[in-house]
Amino acid sequence: MNRTDTPVTVIGLGLMGQALAGAFLRAGHPTTVWNRTASKADHLVAEGARLAPTVGDALKAGSLTIVCVTDYQAMYELLGANEVQLADTTLINLSSGDSAQARDAARWAEERGAHYLDGAVMAIPPTIGTAEAVILHSGPRPVFEAHESTLGALGTVTHLGADHGLASLYDVAGLTMMWSVLNAWLQGTALLGMAGVDAATYAPFARQIAAGVAEWLPGYAQQIDSGSFPAEVSALETEVRTMEHMIEESEAAGINAELPKLIKAMADRAIAAGHGGEQYPVLIEEFGTPGNG
Ligand code: NAP
Repeated sequence: MNRTDTPVTVIGLGLMGQALAGAFLRAGHPTTVWNRTASKADHLVAEGARLAPTVGDALKAGSLTIVCVTDYQAMYELLGANEVQLADTTLINLSSGDSAQARDAARWAEERGAHYLDGAVMAIPPTIGTAEAVILHSGPRPVFEAHESTLGALGTVTHLGADHGLASLYDVAGLTMMWSVLNAWLQGTALLGMAGVDAATYAPFARQIAAGVAEWLPGYAQQIDSGSFPAEVSALETEVRTMEHMIEESEAAGINAELPKLIKAMADRAIAAGHGGEQYPVLIEEFGTPGNG
């Protein structure tokens, strides 16, 4: 059952921190906030939040404290001050960073007696408080489970594992997917644009292709996990010819061909290594090998 009387604290009231605090308030949680620039708390205070006078006071107020600031350095500056006591607090850091920073922060916080989870917000502020907002957590499962129902006020919350670095790693993996898909879409949009097709006309088709490719992932993942890549649908040496078309069309249209060339260069290397008769996911060896680029 979701206990809405659990007191919570949010430290850091940028765009994301304000959204997090607002979601806790809307769910009925007594919410204490603190921000370096205190005026950013004004509208939250008007909605019922309590503005703590100091970071130390804010930490004492909630049975759970969310920290959401620009980066880990800002978190250390805030929580590392002598007068701030972390012992017996539960801290969830939703500031973005990499996995090494997350593991270092976990050691740092645990040495000071805190129960620490690292997290990653895979969402934009307007979606916080809805199921659309996916928020990932990693660190000790009992700490997550103790606060799972409270965290549910923020969105769809998930625990990934005990390794504190996992949330950041998933964050980076998700970003890789996002930027790669967007670049692929922009390449096609630029190509069709040269033929007078506008972006809005291409977008529904591109969306259909992206959704179709997404359907392949579970089967391809099985091939990667088993280390066996039979060409059940098509072989890499067949697919590489379609990559040539991407380069030729881009060059003929006079647009940037860097992305198609990169895609083909990786496939060429896999073919040169003897994988031409296998299926596309065999390229995992290109991605998993150090020193390629
Ligand atoms: P933001 O609007 O720029 O706010 C940054 C926050 O960090 C402010 O509260 C700021 O305090 C505080 N801060 C920065 N340096 C500080 C320092 N040295 N000491 C004390 N406080 C400091 O950023 P945001 O959009 O809220 O993002 C916060 C985190 O969430 C980032 O790590 C971001 O990557 C992550 N995130 C954001 C989004 C998004 O769509 N916005 C999505 C996913 C993840 P002041 O107000 O006093 O400047």
